[in-house]
Amino acid sequence: MALFQIENVKKTYGKVHALRGVNLSLEGNSQYVICGASGSGKSTLLYLLGGLDRPSEGRILVEGKDLSSYDDESLARYRNLYVGFVFQFHFLLPSMNCMNNIMLPAQIGGATPSDLKENVQVLAEKLGVTHCLKKYPYELSGGEQQRVNIIRALSLRPKLLLCDEPTGNLDSENSMKVTSLLKQLATEYQSTLVVVTHDDKVAAHFDNKISMVDGSVV
Ligand code: ADP
Ligand code: MG
Repeated sequence: MALFQIENVKKTYGKVHALRGVNLSLEGNSQYVICGASGSGKSTLLYLLGGLDRPSEGRILVEGKDLSSYDDESLARYRNLYVGFVFQFHFLLPSMNCMNNIMLPAQIGGATPSDLKENVQVLAEKLGVTHCLKKYPYELSGGEQQRVNIIRALSLRPKLLLCDEPTGNLDSENSMKVTSLLKQLATEYQSTLVVVTHDDKVAAHFDNKISMVDGSVV
């Protein structure tokens, strides 16, 4: 069974057809890139997979279970425990140091801080940002902030790691580094990785390419 089965998913915002009937299956422990022009529906598809929003029509099955059958509370649990998110803009809270930023979603999810802290230390070492954990986000470079984001997304070992233009505001050297780190960590954590990008160099790192045009997968 595929980990995700997306069946005829449509999403409209008023008169805008963001998704026009998408069918896809995504396997567990696999890596995908979603490409397409701006406005083609990439982010919308990612948000629906992550349970941040619901389709207007169609179904998304996760391990055979229909996401639309989840009430809001179960969907929040799904987002918290099953999915890790990395966005282009960092969404680190400015008033907390990086360690506390990383621990926040995990604490909401009820993880024990001691187990988690160890995992965070290991990840920080791998990503070369141990020296950043006690700092505040504004004291970090863009590349460092994105690495902290990745730690936060991975700290609960999500089955699904969703990244929306994760290298969108990094220079090309850091883009390549962050992309290979994402791939390497997803493999190690046995997470399915889905990366949205408009950067062909980033896309070239992936064997499974999903191309979107005007709300459809082509
Ligand atoms: P992409 O990520 O490929 O650039 P999006 O998924 O963000 O594309 O958007 C697809 C289409 O849906 C665009 O026309 C966009 O303007 C529209 N759209 C996306 N989100 C919203 C929203 N919350 N409200 C209204 N329109 C939206
Ligand atoms: Mg987008």
